[in-house]
Amino acid sequence: MSIATVNPATGETLRTFEAMDGEEIERRLQLAEATFRTYRTTSFAERAQRMRRAAGLLDDDQQEIARTITCEMGKPIAQARAEAAKCAKAMRWYAEHAEELLADEEPAAADVKDSGAVRALVRYRPLGPVLAVMPWNFPLWQVVRFAAPALMAGNVGLLKHASNVPQTALYLEDLFHRAGFAEGCFQTLLIGSDAVDEILRDERVRAATLTGSEPAGRAVASTAGEMVKKTVLELGGSDPFVVMPSADLDRAARVAVTARVQNNGQSCIAAKRFIVHTDVYDAFTERFVAGMRALRMGDPMEEDTDVGPLSSERARADLEELVDDARRSGAQVLCGGERPEGPGWYYPPTVIAGVTREMRIHREEAFGPVATLYRARDLDEAVLLADDTPFGLSSNVWTRDEEEIDRFVRDLEAGGVYVNGMTASHPAFPFGGVKRSGYGRELSGHGIREFCNITTVWHG
Ligand code: NDP
Repeated sequence: MSIATVNPATGETLRTFEAMDGEEIERRLQLAEATFRTYRTTSFAERAQRMRRAAGLLDDDQQEIARTITCEMGKPIAQARAEAAKCAKAMRWYAEHAEELLADEEPAAADVKDSGAVRALVRYRPLGPVLAVMPWNFPLWQVVRFAAPALMAGNVGLLKHASNVPQTALYLEDLFHRAGFAEGCFQTLLIGSDAVDEILRDERVRAATLTGSEPAGRAVASTAGEMVKKTVLELGGSDPFVVMPSADLDRAARVAVTARVQNNGQSCIAAKRFIVHTDVYDAFTERFVAGMRALRMGDPMEEDTDVGPLSSERARADLEELVDDARRSGAQVLCGGERPEGPGWYYPPTVIAGVTREMRIHREEAFGPVATLYRARDLDEAVLLADDTPFGLSSNVWTRDEEEIDRFVRDLEAGGVYVNGMTASHPAFPFGGVKRSGYGRELSGHGIREFCNITTVWHG
């Protein structure tokens, strides 16, 4: 794939970029390694001061960077601004909390004595240059979610961003430099995915994190495995949204619409499969379909647009194939389901009922504004349906019954269970999945410790 900004609302190529050659990549790897040697010795206070400055600059740049994001990947402009604001918040959160999250830990006195030590502690030390392979769907957030904790821990970052968001990738490098981080602390590598393998094999790169599709995750994880390097993978999701009879149906249906179409439906934690108890199935469906129909699809630069275009022509074709496959196999399309005429890669909010296990959409991630509806007889069937997926990123359950909540929290195979609300990441909570949604965690103390050398210090 060429490295270019192609406006998904028009299909027009706005800017193209040359991939960096081997010499430039080598220069950047050397710089990363050399910078790490000194950066690792900086204090938390110094790092925090720069991180806060980066947050302030990002706030100042919010309008402009939001326009760049919308131009590159098509999300509604208000959501692009919200993404920038969320990044600044995460930067400030890690600036404030990194030191306490990585403070030395003291084992229990009895265990220290039992080991024969006079004193012992656990220290979190940085690992070194970390390669971050990132997707286009939240082109700022996915990167900041890695970079803020990594830099606060004393690591340095090398970003291989998705090929369709090069301007956002270059902006991030510039942002960290303007904030006072040395040039080698955070570098963007303008490269295609074919260049990742060799970089990952380089001894100077100590670990990798990837957010994106399963094939990309598998490729990076297998090379990293061969090289015995730590990885964190955040891959796809097909999160269930379960509605039980005691739920507030109006609110559940309203939130269901947002949870499905946020980011033009291209979010790993979007609710994708709506599993509704038979007693409230018709009432929920009526409200949900009405909400999906009422959305405004159009130019993502317009303030009142709810749903913009998909990120690429390929993305729309993939989504269309999933819907067509379901329709051919007997599913009912309750709204949407037909691409509109005209330029841009638009696909309308779509709801599909009567989905069966044989349909591709039952097992694959629908990366666009397409919801599937399932009817569940009871809680047991709801849990079975919810877990009947290769993915396990997050989940949403709507019920006011405490026993049902306990059952869902016990049984749902996912990295999150959100009760009476939609999944949304927050810097203080761990984020990540199980099964084929990946492994490891981002955000919170768990996220910042993923790329640390957890060191035992023992004094005899
Ligand atoms: P990809 O997984 O292909 O892209 C994500 C990142 O991985 C990009 O930087 C990409 O680079 C890179 N990459 C791709 N293949 C390799 C490889 N073999 N080795 C190393 N790096 C690689 O996502 P797509 O944009 O193609 O989207 C496809 C599907 O992935 C979506 O429909 C969705 O299901 C899922 N997805 C999930 C996301 C999530 O948030 N969980 C985010 C994006 C996609 P390049 O752009 O140069 O190819």
